[in-house]
Amino acid sequence: MANWRTYFPIIRDRARPPEFNSLFLFVTSRCNSLCRTCFYFDKLNSKDDLTFDQIRRLSETAPPFRKLWISGGEPFLRPELAQILTMFVRNNGVCNINLPTNGLLPEKMFRALDAVLDACPDAAIDLNFSLDGLANTHDAIRGVPNNFVRTLETMRQAEQRYTGVKRLRRNVLTVITRENYHEIVKLGLHLLSDTNIDGQYFETVRGEAPDKTLKRMSEPDLKDLHRRLMPFHRAYAKKLFGHLPAGVRHVAEMYYLGNLRLHFDLHERCFEQPRKWPMACTAGQTTIVIDHNGKFRSCEMRPIIGDLARFDYDVRAALQSDTMRQEIDAIPRDNCWCTHSCFIQDSSKFSPRVQLFEIPWAWLRQRMDRLQSAPIEELERYKALELA
Ligand code: SF4
Ligand code: SF4
Repeated sequence: MANWRTYFPIIRDRARPPEFNSLFLFVTSRCNSLCRTCFYFDKLNSKDDLTFDQIRRLSETAPPFRKLWISGGEPFLRPELAQILTMFVRNNGVCNINLPTNGLLPEKMFRALDAVLDACPDAAIDLNFSLDGLANTHDAIRGVPNNFVRTLETMRQAEQRYTGVKRLRRNVLTVITRENYHEIVKLGLHLLSDTNIDGQYFETVRGEAPDKTLKRMSEPDLKDLHRRLMPFHRAYAKKLFGHLPAGVRHVAEMYYLGNLRLHFDLHERCFEQPRKWPMACTAGQTTIVIDHNGKFRSCEMRPIIGDLARFDYDVRAALQSDTMRQEIDAIPRDNCWCTHSCFIQDSSKFSPRVQLFEIPWAWLRQRMDRLQSAPIEELERYKALELA
């Protein structure tokens, strides 16, 4: 039976003082997609990627941290990706790696994943396939013919290869835009009934996207869509935590669902204008973002503040620099509250108020969400899949 000994490590982990926790590494600028949502589009396919030796120096000088967020470019276009990930696990104690992919390079992907799973038996990987709508919409947004079909095929192969490998969570990440807004529920229903993924997560389009019209949605529209997406999170939560003993399962589900509902709340609040989060943003204190060429910043949405080349690629020195201290001081002054889930997640981990009050409260509210606004046929599908 679960008792306080079971819960204590969970609670302790959820109310700890701010410390360096996450490194965001744009591991390459190379990309084989042409997404109209891409905030990094003006830096793609440049010829100034960090060398392997420079990245090794980053790893050797960074303090220990838990979470490595890989970005790019398409990460699997970096030939030494497996060695880079393994190095951060071994040198820095990374226990979770977040890997986004467009799913267009299955051979490279499987080779790298097999190597990392083999070399790092204690590290967990979140592999996030990008799917931004049903076939025509997805292909039109990402500028690659047959992208949807090819990504689904890669997901099918990944399912065959890795089913039962608990350390590798196969997820889908969907960016909500004006163009796909109306079919995201259909995409969710399709993935839930026809694939065996571990979760589907939703971001609102952010930053300076090449196609600004994709941002034309309203806060009420987003709110309505989010209420219709919560049932998917509930379904995946059952699957994710189904193996746990009852008491621990309830706590895990509560934090998972409360956390996701809180993310939705903040996406809605900050979509049209910046509005204060219930916690301080810890960008720059608990995180550093390193671009493909060694330029660095506190978060992906704020400007570059320095170049690691000037610090001899010493991450600790960059974190402790006057420039970073000034940036940390500037963040609360600049009123730049955003919808970026990675930073909402990282910042909320260090807020006892969020962990002990906001998340449980958000969990309660999502239990009261109703689906009245959903079309009848959608409600029927929800019922058939036991989501409603
Ligand atoms: S969003 Fe990702 S996959 Fe798409 S163009 Fe940008 S880096 Fe490439
Ligand atoms: S609120 Fe958003 S934009 Fe502002 S510093 Fe934090 S992560 Fe960056």
